[in-house]
Amino acid sequence: MKTIFKIAMLSSLLIGAYGYSEADVSAQPTDSYVTLSELIENAEEYDGKTILFKGEAIGDPLKRGDHTWVNVSDGNNSAVGVYRTSSQASEISTYGAYENKGDILVITGTFHEACFEHGGDLDIHADSVQIDKAGYRMADPWSYKQLMAALFLAAAAGSLLVFALYSVRCYNSEKSGKDA
Ligand SMILES: [Zn+2]
Repeated sequence: MKTIFKIAMLSSLLIGAYGYSEADVSAQPTDSYVTLSELIENAEEYDGKTILFKGEAIGDPLKRGDHTWVNVSDGNNSAVGVYRTSSQASEISTYGAYENKGDILVITGTFHEACFEHGGDLDIHADSVQIDKAGYRMADPWSYKQLMAALFLAAAAGSLLVFALYSVRCYNSEKSGKDA
């Protein structure tokens, strides 16, 4: 039974990790918002321009004097550093993590392909930041679908184990039958 438990645990972890990477920010695309991949692919074109970007505040904010860096993800497994005043940043109540869904922010700011001020990194200097949707603590980070998938995998692993044990027993009894 220990093996079944281990397999079930492993499946759960894998499914959990996959589930987390699937943010639902990109589920509602709006033409006026530029995505992170669009910014990266057309970095030269957007460099120095004012852009409208929407995404989830994730990770931990990094305070630097009167400004704070906030990582914002647009849901495609990547994030961009957004430089903003600390008072703007203090309005964010929830940052995305495994157990949290972060605040969804709408940022108007200047995009920098290689920011001169910040060591040549790609970043966004925010002019205004609005909280589009407040984040929340996920009471149950497991969705029904994930739970069902984990149970199915655990059941499949269990069946395989039972079949293996049964085969070994048949083989042994056959062998002992021949020996007698
Ligand atoms: Zn910068």
